[in-house]
Amino acid sequence: MRLKDKVALITGASSGIGRETAILFASEGASIAAVDVNDAGGRESVSLIEREQRQAIYIHADVSKVADCQNMVEVTEKTFGKLNILFNNAGIMHPKDDDAVNTGEDIWEVTLAVNLKGVFLGCKFGIPALRRAGGGSIINTASFVAVMGAATPQIAYTASKGGVLALSRELAIVHARENIRVNALCPGPLRTELLMKYLNTEEKKQRRLVHIPIGRFGEAREMAKAALFLASDDSSYLTGSTFLADGGITAAYVTPE
Ligand code: NAD
Repeated sequence: MRLKDKVALITGASSGIGRETAILFASEGASIAAVDVNDAGGRESVSLIEREQRQAIYIHADVSKVADCQNMVEVTEKTFGKLNILFNNAGIMHPKDDDAVNTGEDIWEVTLAVNLKGVFLGCKFGIPALRRAGGGSIINTASFVAVMGAATPQIAYTASKGGVLALSRELAIVHARENIRVNALCPGPLRTELLMKYLNTEEKKQRRLVHIPIGRFGEAREMAKAALFLASDDSSYLTGSTFLADGGITAAYVTPE
């Protein structure tokens, strides 16, 4: 078991990458604090874990709110006694997110609040807990759009993920001597609800698939496996990395037909 006796807090754990990671981390021996705003989904994630005789609790927290983030860390430590792994993964992609001219200020603000401020707040309260545990691993979910531009614009989302990448690098350097590793997981396009809601026609899906050398969308489970590597001691010499799990997108100039 790669996470035996570890405690992991995972935001966005009600669906997609967060849920798959919660299930995988639990199967590797970790106790899970599953955090989300979707209470029904979060409780379902917990029951999926408990069904396998593993430990998990659900905590309602909006990652853009200071008090909620403080509380999610407090409840995790109170329940399981410590925190070893912090996976700041919650994120949104607003359907009205467009180019700079057509994106409303409200869309910009809500996207930055959840995707970027949410990671900052997770770290603000999570890092002291990791220190109390003698160190640990932070994984922040960014995206391949943090390193590449797309002609189908989502200006607020892209900016938020660029921010997550920059923030993760600085955190990694600042906390390196405290035995706290920080890496940014950058998924490519996945077959999760978040993206499929956005690519809601076959034409839009095909237009995106053309750019993926592997020729298919990724699965949330594949991101969970990457997160497991970053969370565990298998990645003990990795910090500050831009960990791309993107089906080859960022390596390609022209993709095979
Ligand atoms: P998802 O929609 O399945 O999961 C996101 C979860 O975050 C949901 O359960 C949602 O309820 C939760 N959430 C939203 N706002 C929240 C808030 N304010 N506080 C707490 N929880 C909140 O999507 P996913 O694909 O699993 O996305 C997970 C992460 O991966 C996101 O950060 C996303 O930007 C990133 N990502 C996704 C893709 C993709 O193609 N799906 C690609 C690159 C990066």
